Amino acid sequence: MQSADIRRLFLEYFISKGHELVKSSPLIPKEDPSLLFTNAGMVQFKRVFLGEEQRPYSRATTCQKCMRAGGKHSDLENVGFTARHHTFFEMLGNFSFGDYFKKEAILFAWELLTEHFKLPKEKLWVSIYKDDDEAANIWEKEVGVLPERIVRLGEKDNFWQMGDTGPCGPCSEIIVDQGEDFGCGKPECSVGCDCDRFLELWNLVFMQYNRDEEGKLTPLPKPSIDTGMGLERITAVLQGKRTNFDTDLFEPIISQICSVLNVSYGKERKTDIAIKVIADHIRASTFLVAEGLIPSNEGRGYVLRRIIRRACRYIKLLQYDSVAFYRFVEPVVSTLGKVYPEIVSERKRIEKVIKIEEERFLKSLERAQQVFDEILENLRKSSSNIIPGEEIFRLYDTFGLPFDLIKEMVQELDLELDEIGFHRELNKQRERAKAAGKAQEVGISEVYKSLMGKSTKFIGYTEYEVETNVYAVVKNNEKVSELIKDDEGDVFLYETPFYAESGGQVGDTGIIISNTGKAEVIDTKKIGNLHCHKVRVIEGSIKEGDRVFVKIDLDRRKAIARNHTATHLLHSALRSIVGEHVKQAGSLVAPEKLRFDFTHFEAVSDEELREIERIVNEKILENLPVKTEIKSLDEALNEGVIALFEDKYEDTVRVVKIFGFSKELCGGTHCSHTGEIGSFYIISEGSVASGIRRIEAVTGSQAYEYANSYREQIKNISQLLKSAEPVKAVERIINDLKAKVQEIETLKEKLITQNIDEFIKQAKDIRGVKALALKFEGFDTKALRTLSDKIKEKLHPSVILLASKTNGQGVLILSVTKDATDRYDAGKLLKNIAQKVGGKGGGRVDSAQGGCSDGENLDKALEIFYQLIEN
Ligand code: ATP
Ligand code: MG
Repeated sequence: MQSADIRRLFLEYFISKGHELVKSSPLIPKEDPSLLFTNAGMVQFKRVFLGEEQRPYSRATTCQKCMRAGGKHSDLENVGFTARHHTFFEMLGNFSFGDYFKKEAILFAWELLTEHFKLPKEKLWVSIYKDDDEAANIWEKEVGVLPERIVRLGEKDNFWQMGDTGPCGPCSEIIVDQGEDFGCGKPECSVGCDCDRFLELWNLVFMQYNRDEEGKLTPLPKPSIDTGMGLERITAVLQGKRTNFDTDLFEPIISQICSVLNVSYGKERKTDIAIKVIADHIRASTFLVAEGLIPSNEGRGYVLRRIIRRACRYIKLLQYDSVAFYRFVEPVVSTLGKVYPEIVSERKRIEKVIKIEEERFLKSLERAQQVFDEILENLRKSSSNIIPGEEIFRLYDTFGLPFDLIKEMVQELDLELDEIGFHRELNKQRERAKAAGKAQEVGISEVYKSLMGKSTKFIGYTEYEVETNVYAVVKNNEKVSELIKDDEGDVFLYETPFYAESGGQVGDTGIIISNTGKAEVIDTKKIGNLHCHKVRVIEGSIKEGDRVFVKIDLDRRKAIARNHTATHLLHSALRSIVGEHVKQAGSLVAPEKLRFDFTHFEAVSDEELREIERIVNEKILENLPVKTEIKSLDEALNEGVIALFEDKYEDTVRVVKIFGFSKELCGGTHCSHTGEIGSFYIISEGSVASGIRRIEAVTGSQAYEYANSYREQIKNISQLLKSAEPVKAVERIINDLKAKVQEIETLKEKLITQNIDEFIKQAKDIRGVKALALKFEGFDTKALRTLSDKIKEKLHPSVILLASKTNGQGVLILSVTKDATDRYDAGKLLKNIAQKVGGKGGGRVDSAQGGCSDGENLDKALEIFYQLIEN
């Protein structure tokens, strides 16, 4: 049976049992930033199981793309070494949302396997959770499985939970005994052994409890079912193959690998492992890149980078020294393209992204290899077999070799790694980075440093004015006791509602009023823990120790908040449309507009921009609440907030959440609901540096102004054109114009040709050569050249200067017929003439052109021409 039939039969079976066929969700979970990759069929139904989301069906079946590499659930290291593990695989599943339960789930699975797929019953085993007598009973009494074939396993193997709290329950696995031949041969080998003999095919999860904060289990009112069976595994069993890699799902990929790399499969264990790794990794890479991921140094992008680089190293191990990995995308497309059209449409881009990463890696690997050899040489000399941490760090830091790759390289040589030493180096580097951050503080002038013992209390998230005391006053880098009228300087307060510029958001402005004076705050900056109010005194004076009333410009602050909240919406919308690889590279949040720089390797198309703009405006209309939470950095990262990894964060962080749409670490000030933004327009998109794009946008009244100015322009255009449909009118004008230009060209030619004989009569005979200079108006070089060619046909040997005043300037062309070039040089002549009339020109002996800025000088040019010829 072909894998395509197995996939189809599975889904058809469950459809016939009343299940809704649901499409695979993406590998990069859109709604669950806490999860690295979709790793099971149930991921897209999480909210349904939790009762947070209703669907029009209570039974579903899927064939889900899964990825188990990186994060908690990683099988990366197993790939190539076991018969049954992949990074990317397809999981077949059936789900019940409070509909049927244990008995039906077990009976369905059994019927499908034994009656439709015709698996021999005597080869099947089942495992259950140790306390699940209900399942034991069903297997034994209803299905008829022999009691000795029902194995009870503990919590670790057969109890499933979604998280620390929430739905959970026992599971039951269906296992096929592949025979001693497949086993490890150990006497204790049985169900649960890590070898490939007792192969876990299908896992049935019985979600029947809710676990509360204290860990107490209470039965769910409506228990649910979640099951998963690896397509590659069932295919291998049904096709009677030793490993998943021998099935029709892999055959075309492996045969392409063998032919490109010139190796054979099934001869030597080491080669086979390499081939399997490459075959597995190309499927994973193809699907990840198809979904918009690109290799990078963090998060999901880093997992992709590791996968590609790991495959490339195996290619190198097979003695192939150039790029090849990207060439295996094609057989992946041919095996799975029918089921997953995204890899067909994205194929070109996938190949490009993979190839670029491959080239990069090969370059750094080459350099790293030398270093690696040196390290080995040194080890040999010192007769140690442990690679020092600093050396590992050097390979990692300088050459971009992922740590696990170094580990594998080393293990192959039976050497060991000083892993602790490596992590110590990694930490040292982080400390250095921190210190570099501190060093910048050294640049702060002495006067500020003397003030930095204190910190300003910022109350501006909720308050916009306050009465407080002046802590210090600074003028021209010196501490002073007061600032008087017209002075500019810095005022430091004990408490402030003024936001100091940071995270792209500009500082607040406003006023400071004391009993004796008034100052306007022009800007607010952050110096260490202090808010520095840049002021200009407009009345009286402001003194150290003054009791003052301070107030921010609230309208301006609101405009800034609109742009800041809109920036978060834009960021999320961008990621959903352009891809998860989009990473903030800088931003400006000002009252009049916002600017967002991000990593992306090509221009964002007009269509994408429109879609992004639409999503942002949709979220504005939904008037979503914007909430902030203070929590530990770890907690926030676990929740999947967007964080800029280059940034240094404190241990406690502020998370700004836009309900159901965006979560970012951010210290800025925001709207309380998205509706306050009003509306949002993207005004430009462009490149700022290689790989970095910039979007500028406006919100609120600026958005209104922006839209209005367009409307005004169109209104003016319509009035000028006297048409209610300006676009059509302009199209008409352009077409008219084209026709007229054509007409003028034709007329000109006619005019010229008709007058040729007249022109020729004006030529002077100078020592056997005809000299002719003519002046026109409104001719371009091309027209003059045509005319000159026509004259030359009838007049030779000759020297001809044609001049025209066009748009106020002078155009000149000079020709010498071939039979006169022994006497005259067109280039030299024209250069000479042009120079004398304040212009430039030159060319060959027979043909030259030039011009002068003042068209009035042409008569003089003609005069000079005749003088030069006559002399
Ligand atoms: P194993 O113990 O063999 O790693 P598992 O317990 O991790 O499997 P589950 O999480 O229960 O597996 O996933 C459900 C099914 O998905 C498994 O029964 C198996 O058929 C399939 N599966 C799981 N992990 C992989 C993988 N890395 N590659 C291919 N198929 C897999
Ligand atoms: Mg597993």
